[in-house]
Formats: sequence, C-alpha cells, structure tokens
Amino acid sequence: DTSHGPILYVEDVSVSFDGFKALNNLNLYIDEGELRCIIGPNGAGKTTMMDVITGKTKPDAGSVYFGQQINLLELSEHQIARGGIGRKFQKPTVYEALSVYENLELATAGDKRFWSTLTRGLNGEQKDRISEVMETIGLTDSVRNDAGNLSHGQKQWLEIGMLLMQSPRVLLVDEPVAGMTGEETERTAELLTSLAGKHSVIVVEHDMAFVRSIAREVTVLHQGSVLAEGTMDKVQNDPKVIEVYLGE
Ligand code: ADP
Repeated sequence: DTSHGPILYVEDVSVSFDGFKALNNLNLYIDEGELRCIIGPNGAGKTTMMDVITGKTKPDAGSVYFGQQINLLELSEHQIARGGIGRKFQKPTVYEALSVYENLELATAGDKRFWSTLTRGLNGEQKDRISEVMETIGLTDSVRNDAGNLSHGQKQWLEIGMLLMQSPRVLLVDEPVAGMTGEETERTAELLTSLAGKHSVIVVEHDMAFVRSIAREVTVLHQGSVLAEGTMDKVQNDPKVIEVYLGE
C-alpha cells in the first residue's frame, strides 16, 4: 500500500465530565507534515482534545489512531510522548538552573538517564542533533546561559527544542505566543512554519492575527465538535463561526 493517509485520526470522539459533553463526536484528521491551527471560544473542548490525543484523558467513545496501525487509546500518556507525539503546555517548564545545552541534553536522555548521561556524555549523533536543534530554535548564542536567564520567548523556544530532541512526528503546541512581544511572536511564527513538513504541528491559539500568519488550515471547535474547517478566510466568513464568536 503506497497511499499515505493522515498521521492522526480522531474519530467520533466523545468525552463527558459529570454528564457534560466536553467533546461530542469530534472528528479530526491531521496529515503528515501539516501545520494546523485549532481555534474556538473558551470551553469549546480544545484542551480536552489535546488531552485525548496525548493520552491524558481516555474518551468514553470513539477512536484515536496514530497512522493506520497504532491505537493510541491502548497506550499510556508516557508511551505516547515517547512514541512520537510531543506536547508543549502553555507555561514553559524548562530547568531554570541548568544551561540551554543541559536542558537539551536532559531532553535527549530522558529523566532517568540524565545523571549517567552527564557523566558519560552524549554520543556524536546526539551532539549533532543538539546543535541542529539549537540552530532551529535560534538559541545557538545562548547555549551556556542558564535557562532561568532567558526571556519568556526564548524559554518557549527552548521548550520546543526539548520536544524536538525526541524527534516527534506530531507536535501539539498550546498558545505559543501568549505573553510574547511582537518580535517574539514573529519569530515563533517562523519557527513553527519551519517545523511543518518535518513534523505535523497542531497549534491551539487565541491570537487570530497569529493564526492567520501561520495557518494554511484552521479548525474551529465549538461545543466539543468541529464547527468549521478550511482556510482562515473561509472560516472567518462562515456565518456559524461569526455567530459563535459574537456570542462570546
Ligand atoms: P477549551 O480548552 O476549548 O477552553 P476545555 O477542553 O478546557 O475547553 O473544556 C471543555 C469543557 O469541558 C468546559 O466546559 C470545561 O468546563 C469542561 N471540563 C474540562 N475539563 C473538565 C474536568 N476535568 N471536569 C469537569 N469539566 C471539565
């Protein structure tokens, strides 16, 4: 079979909390290498959707597949993270007392092997990968700086870099430009755009100008299902979408 279907299949997924449907027959298909933005008013189900994809929440109904073979509902959150789906939460969780380089080293080795890695060192391939990632996230000049001394934007990029050390097939990024300066926002747009192609990137974001600047394809969630999908121009002119946002 030479056909390449989506890398991520979310099909008819429902999640209830005390009878309230946070996700209600959600269908989402993400292609290999695409950059997809997910928008929607507060309470639309965006966080719950990310929790389902990353295995933090198991749905009451539906299926979630990684490629055509791997049933994500059978895997733990940890297995999914190790298996190629990286998630960046809104707040950066870098190790402030460690340098940029050490943070990337830690991300390569995983927590358990961190101390042995520090004493034995990384292999050549891992060191090359760190250099490549530092270049990608634009922190080559800050490599020896403590992560605690980085700007808010740089911390966010470092955390994306830490995820990249695991060579994820899919990256989920939650509100990447919240709290960023205009210049940091622009650099983040460039970074995420440059990651697409090599990775599938799913961005949940409220900043519409930012979404417009990066996304080719936008999915609008509302009440736990897809309200509209398409280019930003298409979804912004959709009467259903206008109604939902005016009512917010
Ligand atoms: P979004 O990220 O789009 O703002 P969420 O996925 O966080 O939306 O939430 C969707 C709905 O589900 C909201 O109404 C929220 O209150 C509810 N919800 C989310 N998580 C829980 C939970 N753990 N317990 C009860 N209700 C929840």
